[in-house]
Amino acid sequence: MKEFKVFLREDEIPKQWYNIQADLPTPLQPPLHPGTRQPIGPQDLAPVFPMNLIEQEVNTKDRWIDIPQEVMEKLLIWRPTPLRRAYALEKVLGTPARIYYKDEGVSPPGSHKPNTAVAQAYYNKVFGIKRIATETGAGQWGSALSFACCLFGLECKVYMVRISYDQKPYRRLMMNTWGANCVPSPSKDTQAGRKILEAHPDSPGSLGIAISEAVEDAVTSKDTRYSLGSVLNHVLMHQTIIGLEAKKQLEKFGEKKVDIVTGCAGGGSNFSGLAFPFVLDKINGAKITIIPAEPTSCPTMTRAPFVYDFGDNVGMAPMVPMHSLGHSFIPAPIHAGGLRYHGMAPLVSQLINDGLLEPRAYNQLECYANAVLWARTEGFIPAPETSHAISVVVEEAKKAKEEGKQKVILLIWSGHGIMDLGGYESYFSGKLIDYPLPEEEMRKSLKDIEGWPKPKIMKMGKVVG
Ligand SMILES: *Cc1c(COP(=O)(O)O)cnc(C)c1O
Repeated sequence: MKEFKVFLREDEIPKQWYNIQADLPTPLQPPLHPGTRQPIGPQDLAPVFPMNLIEQEVNTKDRWIDIPQEVMEKLLIWRPTPLRRAYALEKVLGTPARIYYKDEGVSPPGSHKPNTAVAQAYYNKVFGIKRIATETGAGQWGSALSFACCLFGLECKVYMVRISYDQKPYRRLMMNTWGANCVPSPSKDTQAGRKILEAHPDSPGSLGIAISEAVEDAVTSKDTRYSLGSVLNHVLMHQTIIGLEAKKQLEKFGEKKVDIVTGCAGGGSNFSGLAFPFVLDKINGAKITIIPAEPTSCPTMTRAPFVYDFGDNVGMAPMVPMHSLGHSFIPAPIHAGGLRYHGMAPLVSQLINDGLLEPRAYNQLECYANAVLWARTEGFIPAPETSHAISVVVEEAKKAKEEGKQKVILLIWSGHGIMDLGGYESYFSGKLIDYPLPEEEMRKSLKDIEGWPKPKIMKMGKVVG
Protein backbone atom coordinates (compact mmCIF):
# COMPACT_ATOMS: atom_id res chain seq x y z
CA MET A 1 0.00 0.00 0.00
CA LYS A 2 1.21 3.49 -0.81
CA GLU A 3 2.07 5.69 2.11
CA PHE A 4 -0.81 8.08 2.62
CA LYS A 5 0.19 11.58 3.62
CA VAL A 6 -2.19 13.97 5.27
CA PHE A 7 -1.17 17.59 5.30
CA LEU A 8 -4.11 19.20 6.98
CA ARG A 9 -5.32 18.84 10.54
CA GLU A 10 -4.48 15.14 10.73
CA ASP A 11 -4.58 15.35 14.52
CA GLU A 12 -8.32 16.09 14.40
CA ILE A 13 -9.27 12.74 12.86
CA PRO A 14 -9.95 9.96 15.37
CA LYS A 15 -8.29 6.59 14.79
CA GLN A 16 -11.22 4.70 16.33
CA TRP A 17 -15.02 4.76 16.30
CA TYR A 18 -16.90 5.13 19.57
CA ASN A 19 -19.20 2.19 20.36
CA ILE A 20 -21.74 3.55 22.84
CA GLN A 21 -23.12 0.04 23.44
CA ALA A 22 -20.24 -0.48 25.88
CA ASP A 23 -21.46 2.43 28.05
CA LEU A 24 -25.25 2.24 27.95
CA PRO A 25 -26.95 2.78 31.32
CA THR A 26 -29.73 0.49 30.01
CA PRO A 27 -28.63 -2.29 27.63
CA LEU A 28 -30.64 -2.72 24.42
CA GLN A 29 -33.35 -5.38 24.42
CA PRO A 30 -32.86 -7.99 21.68
CA PRO A 31 -34.39 -7.79 18.18
CA LEU A 32 -37.14 -10.36 17.52
CA HIS A 33 -37.64 -12.60 14.49
CA PRO A 34 -40.50 -11.16 12.35
CA GLY A 35 -42.14 -14.60 12.10
CA THR A 36 -41.47 -16.43 15.37
CA ARG A 37 -41.18 -13.29 17.52
CA GLN A 38 -38.29 -14.93 19.37
CA PRO A 39 -34.97 -13.12 19.93
CA ILE A 40 -32.67 -13.45 16.92
CA GLY A 41 -28.93 -14.08 16.89
CA PRO A 42 -26.12 -13.04 14.54
CA GLN A 43 -26.67 -16.10 12.29
CA ASP A 44 -30.22 -14.95 11.44
CA LEU A 45 -28.80 -11.80 9.86
CA ALA A 46 -26.08 -13.57 7.84
CA PRO A 47 -28.00 -13.83 4.52
CA VAL A 48 -28.55 -10.06 4.59
CA PHE A 49 -25.35 -8.52 6.04
CA PRO A 50 -21.69 -9.65 6.06
CA MET A 51 -20.63 -11.19 9.38
CA ASN A 52 -17.96 -8.57 10.12
CA LEU A 53 -20.65 -5.87 10.22
CA ILE A 54 -23.01 -8.11 12.21
CA GLU A 55 -20.21 -8.48 14.79
CA GLN A 56 -20.08 -4.69 15.12
CA GLU A 57 -23.86 -4.59 15.35
CA VAL A 58 -23.96 -6.85 18.41
CA ASN A 59 -20.70 -5.74 20.06
CA THR A 60 -21.50 -4.57 23.60
CA LYS A 61 -17.95 -4.96 24.98
CA ASP A 62 -15.48 -2.82 23.06
CA ARG A 63 -15.83 0.90 23.64
CA TRP A 64 -13.39 1.75 20.84
CA ILE A 65 -13.16 0.03 17.42
CA ASP A 66 -10.14 0.70 15.19
CA ILE A 67 -10.92 2.38 11.86
CA PRO A 68 -9.16 0.25 9.21
CA GLN A 69 -6.42 2.03 7.25
CA GLU A 70 -8.25 1.37 3.95
CA VAL A 71 -11.36 3.12 5.29
CA MET A 72 -9.30 6.00 6.64
CA GLU A 73 -7.73 6.59 3.21
CA LYS A 74 -11.18 7.06 1.70
CA LEU A 75 -12.47 9.23 4.55
CA LEU A 76 -9.46 11.51 4.03
CA ILE A 77 -10.91 12.57 0.67
CA TRP A 78 -13.16 14.99 2.59
CA ARG A 79 -12.30 14.61 6.29
CA PRO A 80 -11.79 16.18 8.69
CA THR A 81 -14.89 18.21 7.92
CA PRO A 82 -14.80 21.85 9.00
CA LEU A 83 -16.12 23.08 12.31
CA ARG A 84 -17.22 26.65 11.77
CA ARG A 85 -18.52 29.36 14.01
CA ALA A 86 -21.75 30.94 12.75
CA TYR A 87 -20.70 34.53 13.53
CA ALA A 88 -23.14 36.15 11.08
CA LEU A 89 -26.13 34.25 12.43
CA GLU A 90 -25.12 35.10 16.02
CA LYS A 91 -24.96 38.78 15.05
CA VAL A 92 -28.36 38.85 13.35
CA LEU A 93 -29.96 37.08 16.32
CA GLY A 94 -28.14 39.40 18.74
CA THR A 95 -27.32 36.42 20.91
CA PRO A 96 -24.50 36.11 23.44
CA ALA A 97 -24.40 32.38 22.55
CA ARG A 98 -21.48 31.03 20.53
CA ILE A 99 -22.81 28.81 17.72
CA TYR A 100 -20.60 26.16 16.09
CA TYR A 101 -21.59 23.92 13.21
CA LYS A 102 -19.97 20.72 12.03
CA ASP A 103 -20.29 20.80 8.26
CA GLU A 104 -20.94 17.33 6.84
CA GLY A 105 -22.16 18.86 3.57
CA VAL A 106 -18.61 18.92 2.18
CA SER A 107 -18.51 15.20 1.31
CA PRO A 108 -18.75 14.29 -2.39
CA PRO A 109 -22.43 13.21 -2.16
CA GLY A 110 -23.14 16.24 0.08
CA SER A 111 -24.13 14.72 3.43
CA HIS A 112 -22.87 12.67 6.41
CA LYS A 113 -24.05 9.42 4.79
CA PRO A 114 -20.76 8.39 3.11
CA ASN A 115 -19.13 8.09 6.59
CA THR A 116 -20.91 4.76 6.97
CA ALA A 117 -21.27 3.94 3.26
CA VAL A 118 -17.48 3.85 2.90
CA ALA A 119 -17.06 1.67 6.00
CA GLN A 120 -19.82 -0.71 4.90
CA ALA A 121 -18.44 -1.05 1.37
CA TYR A 122 -15.02 -1.89 2.84
CA TYR A 123 -16.32 -4.56 5.24
CA ASN A 124 -18.39 -6.15 2.46
CA LYS A 125 -15.36 -6.21 0.21
CA VAL A 126 -13.03 -7.88 2.72
CA PHE A 127 -15.78 -10.42 3.43
CA GLY A 128 -15.68 -11.40 -0.26
CA ILE A 129 -18.88 -9.65 -1.35
CA LYS A 130 -18.83 -8.34 -4.93
CA ARG A 131 -22.11 -6.48 -5.14
CA ILE A 132 -24.38 -4.44 -2.80
CA ALA A 133 -28.12 -3.83 -3.20
CA THR A 134 -30.02 -1.07 -1.45
CA GLU A 135 -33.07 1.14 -1.67
CA THR A 136 -33.30 4.91 -1.73
CA GLY A 137 -36.11 7.40 -1.35
CA ALA A 138 -35.04 10.87 -2.36
CA GLY A 139 -31.61 9.57 -3.34
CA GLN A 140 -29.28 10.70 -0.54
CA TRP A 141 -28.43 7.20 0.63
CA GLY A 142 -28.34 5.75 -2.89
CA SER A 143 -25.83 8.34 -4.00
CA ALA A 144 -23.66 7.88 -0.88
CA LEU A 145 -23.51 4.10 -1.34
CA SER A 146 -22.86 4.44 -5.10
CA PHE A 147 -19.90 6.69 -4.31
CA ALA A 148 -18.55 4.25 -1.67
CA CYS A 149 -18.93 1.17 -3.91
CA CYS A 150 -17.15 3.04 -6.68
CA LEU A 151 -14.18 3.69 -4.35
CA PHE A 152 -13.88 -0.02 -3.49
CA GLY A 153 -14.66 -1.48 -6.93
CA LEU A 154 -17.96 -3.07 -5.89
CA GLU A 155 -21.08 -3.27 -8.03
CA CYS A 156 -24.00 -1.29 -6.66
CA LYS A 157 -27.69 -1.74 -7.43
CA VAL A 158 -30.09 0.91 -6.16
CA TYR A 159 -33.87 0.51 -6.13
CA MET A 160 -35.18 4.08 -6.17
CA VAL A 161 -38.81 4.82 -5.32
CA ARG A 162 -40.47 5.40 -8.72
CA ILE A 163 -41.93 8.82 -7.95
CA SER A 164 -38.55 10.20 -6.81
CA TYR A 165 -36.85 8.54 -9.76
CA ASP A 166 -39.07 10.55 -12.08
CA GLN A 167 -39.09 13.77 -10.04
CA LYS A 168 -35.43 13.90 -8.95
CA PRO A 169 -33.25 12.99 -11.91
CA TYR A 170 -30.12 14.67 -10.51
CA ARG A 171 -29.56 12.32 -7.59
CA ARG A 172 -30.01 9.39 -9.99
CA LEU A 173 -27.48 10.92 -12.36
CA MET A 174 -25.00 11.24 -9.49
CA MET A 175 -25.41 7.49 -8.89
CA ASN A 176 -24.88 6.77 -12.60
CA THR A 177 -21.81 8.97 -12.63
CA TRP A 178 -20.31 6.84 -9.85
CA GLY A 179 -21.13 3.75 -11.89
CA ALA A 180 -24.16 2.39 -10.03
CA ASN A 181 -27.19 0.77 -11.61
CA CYS A 182 -30.24 2.68 -10.40
CA VAL A 183 -33.69 1.39 -11.38
CA PRO A 184 -37.16 2.72 -10.55
CA SER A 185 -38.99 0.63 -7.94
CA PRO A 186 -41.23 -1.33 -8.41
CA SER A 187 -38.97 -2.89 -11.06
CA LYS A 188 -39.10 -5.95 -13.30
CA ASP A 189 -35.85 -7.20 -11.74
CA THR A 190 -37.38 -8.87 -8.66
CA GLN A 191 -40.34 -11.08 -7.89
CA ALA A 192 -41.67 -8.52 -5.40
CA GLY A 193 -41.46 -5.79 -8.04
CA ARG A 194 -43.04 -7.85 -10.85
CA LYS A 195 -45.97 -8.80 -8.62
CA ILE A 196 -46.75 -5.17 -7.86
CA LEU A 197 -46.31 -4.06 -11.49
CA GLU A 198 -48.77 -6.74 -12.62
CA ALA A 199 -51.46 -5.39 -10.30
CA HIS A 200 -50.48 -1.69 -10.56
CA PRO A 201 -48.47 -0.92 -13.70
CA ASP A 202 -48.39 2.79 -12.74
CA SER A 203 -47.41 2.29 -9.08
CA PRO A 204 -45.50 5.35 -7.76
CA GLY A 205 -43.61 2.95 -5.49
CA SER A 206 -42.82 3.32 -1.80
CA LEU A 207 -39.84 2.90 0.45
CA GLY A 208 -41.35 -0.38 1.70
CA ILE A 209 -41.54 -1.82 -1.82
CA ALA A 210 -38.00 -0.67 -2.61
CA ILE A 211 -36.67 -2.33 0.58
CA SER A 212 -38.43 -5.59 -0.33
CA GLU A 213 -36.80 -5.51 -3.75
CA ALA A 214 -33.31 -4.75 -2.43
CA VAL A 215 -33.47 -7.43 0.27
CA GLU A 216 -34.81 -10.02 -2.19
CA ASP A 217 -31.99 -9.12 -4.58
CA ALA A 218 -29.40 -9.48 -1.79
CA VAL A 219 -30.56 -12.87 -0.52
CA THR A 220 -31.12 -14.40 -3.99
CA SER A 221 -28.07 -13.07 -5.91
CA LYS A 222 -24.55 -14.45 -5.82
CA ASP A 223 -22.00 -12.64 -3.61
CA THR A 224 -24.50 -9.89 -2.84
CA ARG A 225 -25.51 -8.28 0.44
CA TYR A 226 -27.89 -5.54 1.52
CA SER A 227 -26.92 -2.25 3.10
CA LEU A 228 -28.80 0.22 5.29
CA GLY A 229 -27.93 3.89 5.75
CA SER A 230 -29.31 4.58 9.24
CA VAL A 231 -31.02 3.13 12.35
CA LEU A 232 -28.66 0.15 12.96
CA ASN A 233 -26.07 0.20 15.76
CA HIS A 234 -23.06 -0.18 13.47
CA VAL A 235 -24.26 2.63 11.21
CA LEU A 236 -24.54 5.02 14.16
CA MET A 237 -21.09 3.95 15.35
CA HIS A 238 -19.49 4.72 11.95
CA GLN A 239 -20.85 8.25 12.27
CA THR A 240 -19.19 8.95 15.65
CA ILE A 241 -16.14 10.20 13.80
CA ILE A 242 -18.19 13.42 13.50
CA GLY A 243 -18.49 14.08 17.24
CA LEU A 244 -14.95 12.94 18.00
CA GLU A 245 -13.55 15.38 15.43
CA ALA A 246 -15.81 18.17 16.69
CA LYS A 247 -14.43 17.77 20.23
CA LYS A 248 -10.85 18.28 19.11
CA GLN A 249 -11.85 21.20 16.93
CA LEU A 250 -13.77 22.91 19.74
CA GLU A 251 -10.60 22.72 21.83
CA LYS A 252 -8.76 24.60 19.07
CA PHE A 253 -11.45 27.29 19.27
CA GLY A 254 -10.61 27.48 22.98
CA GLU A 255 -13.94 26.05 24.12
CA LYS A 256 -13.70 23.96 27.27
CA LYS A 257 -17.33 22.96 27.52
CA VAL A 258 -20.46 22.72 25.42
CA ASP A 259 -23.93 23.53 26.74
CA ILE A 260 -26.19 22.36 23.92
CA VAL A 261 -25.64 19.68 21.27
CA THR A 262 -28.22 19.22 18.52
CA GLY A 263 -28.97 17.57 15.19
CA CYS A 264 -31.94 16.44 13.12
CA ALA A 265 -33.01 12.81 13.45
CA GLY A 266 -34.74 10.69 10.81
CA GLY A 267 -33.36 7.24 11.61
CA GLY A 268 -30.89 8.86 14.00
CA SER A 269 -27.49 8.46 12.34
CA ASN A 270 -26.19 12.01 11.85
CA PHE A 271 -27.50 13.14 15.22
CA SER A 272 -25.89 10.14 16.99
CA GLY A 273 -22.65 10.66 15.11
CA LEU A 274 -22.27 14.09 16.64
CA ALA A 275 -23.98 13.44 19.96
CA PHE A 276 -22.77 10.04 21.24
CA PRO A 277 -19.30 11.19 22.37
CA PHE A 278 -21.07 13.96 24.32
CA VAL A 279 -23.63 11.49 25.71
CA LEU A 280 -20.64 9.65 27.22
CA ASP A 281 -19.60 12.91 28.96
CA LYS A 282 -23.16 13.32 30.18
CA ILE A 283 -23.25 9.75 31.54
CA ASN A 284 -20.06 10.68 33.37
CA GLY A 285 -21.70 13.73 34.95
CA ALA A 286 -21.21 16.62 32.49
CA LYS A 287 -24.04 19.15 32.27
CA ILE A 288 -25.06 19.12 28.58
CA THR A 289 -28.48 19.43 26.96
CA ILE A 290 -28.64 17.06 23.99
CA ILE A 291 -31.52 17.66 21.59
CA PRO A 292 -32.53 15.54 18.58
CA ALA A 293 -35.01 17.40 16.31
CA GLU A 294 -37.79 15.96 14.16
CA PRO A 295 -40.80 17.16 12.11
CA THR A 296 -44.23 17.50 13.76
CA SER A 297 -45.59 15.46 10.84
CA CYS A 298 -43.51 12.40 11.83
CA PRO A 299 -43.10 12.76 15.61
CA THR A 300 -41.51 9.45 16.55
CA MET A 301 -39.41 10.77 19.44
CA THR A 302 -41.77 13.35 20.91
CA ARG A 303 -45.07 11.45 20.67
CA ALA A 304 -44.74 7.81 19.58
CA PRO A 305 -44.70 5.00 22.18
CA PHE A 306 -41.70 2.72 22.83
CA VAL A 307 -42.72 -0.61 21.25
CA TYR A 308 -41.45 -3.60 19.34
CA ASP A 309 -42.06 -2.85 15.66
CA PHE A 310 -40.72 -3.95 12.29
CA GLY A 311 -37.75 -2.01 10.99
CA ASP A 312 -39.36 -1.85 7.53
CA ASN A 313 -42.88 -1.07 6.29
CA VAL A 314 -43.70 -4.54 5.05
CA GLY A 315 -42.88 -6.79 8.01
CA MET A 316 -39.84 -8.63 6.64
CA ALA A 317 -37.22 -7.00 8.84
CA PRO A 318 -36.66 -7.96 12.50
CA MET A 319 -38.80 -6.26 15.14
CA VAL A 320 -36.74 -3.89 17.24
CA PRO A 321 -37.52 -1.95 20.43
CA MET A 322 -37.96 1.68 19.43
CA HIS A 323 -40.19 4.73 19.45
CA SER A 324 -42.47 4.01 16.49
CA LEU A 325 -45.60 5.38 14.86
CA GLY A 326 -46.34 1.89 13.49
CA HIS A 327 -44.70 0.37 10.42
CA SER A 328 -47.76 1.09 8.24
CA PHE A 329 -47.58 4.82 9.06
CA ILE A 330 -47.41 6.99 5.94
CA PRO A 331 -46.08 10.45 6.80
CA ALA A 332 -47.27 13.62 5.09
CA PRO A 333 -45.28 14.60 1.97
CA ILE A 334 -42.94 17.05 3.69
CA HIS A 335 -39.77 18.05 1.89
CA ALA A 336 -37.43 16.68 4.56
CA GLY A 337 -37.59 13.20 3.00
CA GLY A 338 -34.87 11.87 5.31
CA LEU A 339 -37.03 12.56 8.38
CA ARG A 340 -40.06 10.51 7.31
CA TYR A 341 -39.08 7.12 8.80
CA HIS A 342 -41.80 5.56 11.01
CA GLY A 343 -39.40 4.61 13.82
CA MET A 344 -36.20 5.79 15.50
CA ALA A 345 -32.90 3.97 16.03
CA PRO A 346 -33.11 1.65 19.09
CA LEU A 347 -30.01 3.32 20.57
CA VAL A 348 -31.53 6.81 20.31
CA SER A 349 -34.91 5.49 21.52
CA GLN A 350 -33.41 3.96 24.67
CA LEU A 351 -31.32 7.06 25.45
CA ILE A 352 -34.54 9.09 25.30
CA ASN A 353 -36.12 6.68 27.83
CA ASP A 354 -33.02 7.11 29.99
CA GLY A 355 -33.63 10.86 30.03
CA LEU A 356 -30.26 11.58 28.42
CA LEU A 357 -31.78 13.12 25.26
CA GLU A 358 -34.48 15.79 25.08
CA PRO A 359 -36.20 15.59 21.67
CA ARG A 360 -38.17 18.45 20.09
CA ALA A 361 -40.45 18.69 17.03
CA TYR A 362 -40.79 21.56 14.54
CA ASN A 363 -43.22 22.52 11.80
CA GLN A 364 -42.07 22.64 8.19
CA LEU A 365 -42.76 26.36 7.64
CA GLU A 366 -40.73 27.43 10.68
CA CYS A 367 -37.89 25.17 9.47
CA TYR A 368 -37.84 26.73 6.00
CA ALA A 369 -37.90 30.23 7.49
CA ASN A 370 -34.85 29.31 9.59
CA ALA A 371 -33.15 27.62 6.62
CA VAL A 372 -33.52 30.84 4.61
CA LEU A 373 -32.25 32.89 7.57
CA TRP A 374 -29.22 30.58 7.67
CA ALA A 375 -28.59 30.89 3.91
CA ARG A 376 -28.84 34.69 4.12
CA THR A 377 -26.37 34.91 7.00
CA GLU A 378 -23.96 31.97 6.77
CA GLY A 379 -24.37 31.54 3.01
CA PHE A 380 -24.60 27.78 2.76
CA ILE A 381 -28.02 26.44 1.75
CA PRO A 382 -29.06 23.65 4.14
CA ALA A 383 -30.88 20.44 3.27
CA PRO A 384 -34.54 20.50 4.41
CA GLU A 385 -33.62 17.88 7.06
CA THR A 386 -30.84 20.06 8.47
CA SER A 387 -33.24 22.98 8.94
CA HIS A 388 -34.75 21.14 11.92
CA ALA A 389 -31.42 21.29 13.77
CA ILE A 390 -31.11 24.95 12.77
CA SER A 391 -34.53 25.55 14.34
CA VAL A 392 -33.25 24.26 17.69
CA VAL A 393 -30.25 26.58 17.39
CA VAL A 394 -32.36 29.65 16.62
CA GLU A 395 -34.69 28.86 19.53
CA GLU A 396 -31.82 28.31 21.96
CA ALA A 397 -29.87 31.34 20.74
CA LYS A 398 -32.91 33.55 21.39
CA LYS A 399 -33.35 32.00 24.82
CA ALA A 400 -29.69 32.69 25.64
CA LYS A 401 -30.31 36.32 24.67
CA GLU A 402 -33.31 36.60 27.01
CA GLU A 403 -31.36 35.01 29.82
CA GLY A 404 -28.19 36.95 28.99
CA LYS A 405 -26.16 33.73 29.06
CA GLN A 406 -23.00 32.96 27.08
CA LYS A 407 -23.90 29.43 26.06
CA VAL A 408 -21.99 27.27 23.60
CA ILE A 409 -24.26 25.62 21.03
CA LEU A 410 -23.04 22.87 18.69
CA LEU A 411 -25.03 21.53 15.76
CA ILE A 412 -24.47 19.06 13.03
CA TRP A 413 -25.10 20.53 9.60
CA SER A 414 -26.04 17.18 8.04
CA GLY A 415 -26.03 18.20 4.39
CA HIS A 416 -26.46 20.90 1.78
CA GLY A 417 -29.73 21.54 0.02
CA ILE A 418 -28.62 22.36 -3.49
CA MET A 419 -30.17 19.14 -4.81
CA ASP A 420 -33.40 19.99 -2.95
CA LEU A 421 -34.16 23.46 -4.25
CA GLY A 422 -37.63 22.31 -5.32
CA GLY A 423 -38.63 22.49 -1.65
CA TYR A 424 -37.37 26.08 -1.44
CA GLU A 425 -39.35 26.91 -4.58
CA SER A 426 -42.54 25.60 -2.96
CA TYR A 427 -41.77 27.62 0.17
CA PHE A 428 -41.16 30.88 -1.72
CA SER A 429 -44.34 30.46 -3.75
CA GLY A 430 -46.40 29.98 -0.58
CA LYS A 431 -47.40 26.42 -1.45
CA LEU A 432 -46.05 24.77 1.68
CA ILE A 433 -48.23 23.95 4.65
CA ASP A 434 -47.67 22.42 8.08
CA TYR A 435 -48.87 18.91 8.82
CA PRO A 436 -48.82 18.35 12.59
CA LEU A 437 -49.87 14.72 13.00
CA PRO A 438 -53.47 14.35 14.26
CA GLU A 439 -53.77 12.13 17.37
CA GLU A 440 -56.41 10.07 15.58
CA GLU A 441 -54.06 9.12 12.74
CA MET A 442 -51.34 8.04 15.11
CA ARG A 443 -53.76 5.83 17.01
CA LYS A 444 -54.84 4.25 13.72
CA SER A 445 -51.35 3.31 12.55
CA LEU A 446 -50.48 1.96 16.00
CA LYS A 447 -53.45 -0.42 15.86
CA ASP A 448 -51.39 -2.74 13.62
CA ILE A 449 -48.99 -3.59 16.42
CA GLU A 450 -51.52 -4.03 19.23
CA GLY A 451 -51.09 -7.29 21.08
CA TRP A 452 -47.48 -7.80 20.07
CA PRO A 453 -44.60 -8.44 22.46
CA LYS A 454 -43.83 -5.28 24.45
CA PRO A 455 -40.34 -4.15 25.42
CA LYS A 456 -39.70 -3.19 29.05
CA ILE A 457 -39.73 0.54 29.63
CA MET A 458 -36.49 1.23 31.47
CA LYS A 459 -34.77 4.36 32.73
CA MET A 460 -31.08 4.30 33.65
CA GLY A 461 -31.17 0.51 34.11
CA LYS A 462 -34.36 0.40 36.18
CA VAL A 463 -37.75 -0.84 34.99
CA VAL A 464 -40.28 2.00 35.14
CA GLY A 465 -43.16 0.64 33.06
C1 LIG B 1 -30.54 11.04 5.34
C2 LIG B 1 -30.38 12.40 5.89
C3 LIG B 1 -30.84 12.75 7.19
C4 LIG B 1 -31.60 11.79 8.07
O1 LIG B 1 -30.99 10.59 8.37
P1 LIG B 1 -30.35 10.26 9.80
O2 LIG B 1 -30.02 8.82 9.74
O3 LIG B 1 -31.35 10.57 10.87
O4 LIG B 1 -29.13 11.11 9.92
C5 LIG B 1 -30.61 14.03 7.65
N1 LIG B 1 -29.98 14.95 6.90
C6 LIG B 1 -29.52 14.67 5.66
C7 LIG B 1 -28.84 15.73 4.87
C8 LIG B 1 -29.72 13.38 5.11
O5 LIG B 1 -29.26 13.10 3.89
